[in-house]
Amino acid sequence: MIEAREVLKKYFGYEEFRSGQESIIEHILNGEDVLGIMPTGAGKSICYQIPAVMLSGITIVVSPLISLMKDQVDGLKEFGIPATFVNSTLSSAEYEQTIENIVHDVYKIIYVAPERLEQEAFLNVLNVIDVSMFTIDEAHCVSQWGHDFRPSYRLIADVIKKLKKRPIVSSFTATATQIVKNDIIKLLDLHSPFVLTTGFDRQNLKFKVENSTKKLEYIQNYLKGHSNSGIIYCFTRKNVDCLHQKLSGMGYSVSKYHGGMNEKERAESQEDFTYDRTQIMVATNAFGMGIDKSNIRFVIHYNMPKDLESYYQEAGRAGRDGEEAECILLFSRADIVDNQFLIENASGENHANEYEKLSDMIDYCNTDKCLRKYILEYFGERPEFDNCGNCSNCLSTIEISDITEESQKILSCIKRMKGNFGASLVTDVLKGANTERIRKLHFDGLSTYGIMKNYTKETIKDFISYLEAEGYLQTVGNEYPIVALTENANDVLFHGKQVLVKKKFEKMDEKEKTPHRLGTQEEIEVDGALFEVLRVLRLKIARENNIPPFIVFADTTLKQMAAFCPKTREEMLKISGVGEVKFEKYGEDFMRAIKEYSEEKCSY
Ligand code: ADP
Ligand code: ZN
Repeated sequence: MIEAREVLKKYFGYEEFRSGQESIIEHILNGEDVLGIMPTGAGKSICYQIPAVMLSGITIVVSPLISLMKDQVDGLKEFGIPATFVNSTLSSAEYEQTIENIVHDVYKIIYVAPERLEQEAFLNVLNVIDVSMFTIDEAHCVSQWGHDFRPSYRLIADVIKKLKKRPIVSSFTATATQIVKNDIIKLLDLHSPFVLTTGFDRQNLKFKVENSTKKLEYIQNYLKGHSNSGIIYCFTRKNVDCLHQKLSGMGYSVSKYHGGMNEKERAESQEDFTYDRTQIMVATNAFGMGIDKSNIRFVIHYNMPKDLESYYQEAGRAGRDGEEAECILLFSRADIVDNQFLIENASGENHANEYEKLSDMIDYCNTDKCLRKYILEYFGERPEFDNCGNCSNCLSTIEISDITEESQKILSCIKRMKGNFGASLVTDVLKGANTERIRKLHFDGLSTYGIMKNYTKETIKDFISYLEAEGYLQTVGNEYPIVALTENANDVLFHGKQVLVKKKFEKMDEKEKTPHRLGTQEEIEVDGALFEVLRVLRLKIARENNIPPFIVFADTTLKQMAAFCPKTREEMLKISGVGEVKFEKYGEDFMRAIKEYSEEKCSY
């Protein structure tokens, strides 16, 4: 295991193994089959990549996602690990060359699409090389009970059986109910495997539910404070087109993705987002499978998805690098109707199961308990905490304020104005505005004139909206909307009924309220301006080399550089994510940028 640590440091530039990685690697190196069940972002890849480097022969990785293979292989090459992929995107000349290299032992790791295992010619190749390990990524694809069954996965066990020497078989997935887990072990024919399940909790993700009918406004405000990468999921293609158009119109850098676009458009759009050429991706749930961008800082659901499985998977695309990220669900009652409509119009007769899942999803949006705990319990875990301290419910306090007196003033003012005017004029009268219109109508003589002069107009308008939402007022008339009292208003005016507002407030001291976090990620003080300088440099290098920026260095790595300002090779190699090969490639460039920045700063 000492050697495994050295590999971790030398190639990947990481100091410590994450939870679960070490024991999986240890069992593989012992020659055992393994099944690793770990949530997205936990770091499954390293669990097979490190043994692959250490084992004497070649590791074959079966992965269902062709679009991911290139990035994964590019990433490994960046770390200095010889790797390649074999899939349908290769031209026949490239294919020939790749096979030639494979039989000459050029690579340590070879990614293949499962369909490739159907081809006799490829199987013959496997039998002339020394295969030390067979790794099955997204192993749940072998099971019909998983959410993306791939028939070709059923061939894997046979292919392994036909090899002249049985390799170690390691398999990984993020989703596994008991039934899927048993299927994986049986159908991949794992031999008394070591099974490791780390919890499903993603501590770096902050979960939020916002009850909102003004979603666009929410997004606009949110984006003002967030210039990092994020995804906004919408329910329909039409929603996507519409939101995309609005955000582009406001000048945001935004891509879109849905099933109605052709393959080329989708590929371009995905690439723009992956390579940080655009900041925001607006998409339907068609977007996601096969995206491996680790620095997504927020995932906003513009509409409530149909169940928590979908939600957790989509939201889970945020923060794969382990840095803090936000998952926000914008919920309105219309979302329920849309989902019900979808269920009703789906094929099949018995929709009870779908309705039950939808109902759990709605409960998630309405609960005032810890959101994280709700999710984990839904997936069958028994968390030991009641408050995670990192979700909108744990971070907010419910404040109840009594606005009976204000309500009486407003309602009686409207009554005195004979209920024939809009909210603006009512507000002006309560505020005591001295306008010609008010004088003409003699409202300055009413006893309620100026009775709320100590409140801002916005606050008075908020009260009016609230009274309408609670059914004490109603807006009538289309062209000139006026606010009128409803019968319920009498209860407040004459029968002593209290008006109480329940409001959620975000607590200010967020950071201190994180009781169940284990402090894996130390808070470091990052020089924001330097971080930006390094980000620009990273983008430049990525463009020159035609690889996604996060493959050059992760955000985490840049942040550490911006905090510790490494100036020598030794200091640089201490930064998490800087291995020897990457140092050779980019170390000097980044040290120079840091040096220039520091000198400039000191000369003031
Ligand atoms: P998964 O496949 O489980 O979703 P990945 O293998 O893509 O996750 O890993 C997620 C991120 O975490 C990657 O950027 C990876 O480099 C990083 N990572 C993995 N292991 C470690 C570690 N021990 N220390 C620091 N970062 C790590
Ligand atoms: Zn919580």
